Amino acid sequence: MTDSAVISEERPTKQAMMRGALLRCPACGEGRLFTSYLKVADACPNCGEELHHQRADDGPAYLTILLVSHLAAPILLASYVAWRPDAITMLVIFGLGTIVLSLILLPIFKGGFVGLQWARRMHGFGE
Ligand SMILES: [Zn+2]
Repeated sequence: MTDSAVISEERPTKQAMMRGALLRCPACGEGRLFTSYLKVADACPNCGEELHHQRADDGPAYLTILLVSHLAAPILLASYVAWRPDAITMLVIFGLGTIVLSLILLPIFKGGFVGLQWARRMHGFGE
């Protein structure tokens, strides 16, 4: 194997995860990663890289819950101490806020997971 072949086979993890988090193909960074909200395309429409090997499973959901809960809990406490809003106001604002933030973060984290799996050649990405 030549040096150029080794270099061409390298898959930078950070770059692949960033491309995935931007909802783009981890290989080329151009093609759309998802065909719908969380449905990963079988192959990249731009470069043809097979993406059906991904097995993100519950990882993005766990990460989303972890981040949203750790953001919402101190903000909820601080806003209650500072302004003492009504319970219904707190429920509406934080209920909607956590739902919207979770819906925004979920595809970003899933794209990052797919990029990580692609870069590390997991679940058939290396074949
Ligand atoms: Zn691609």
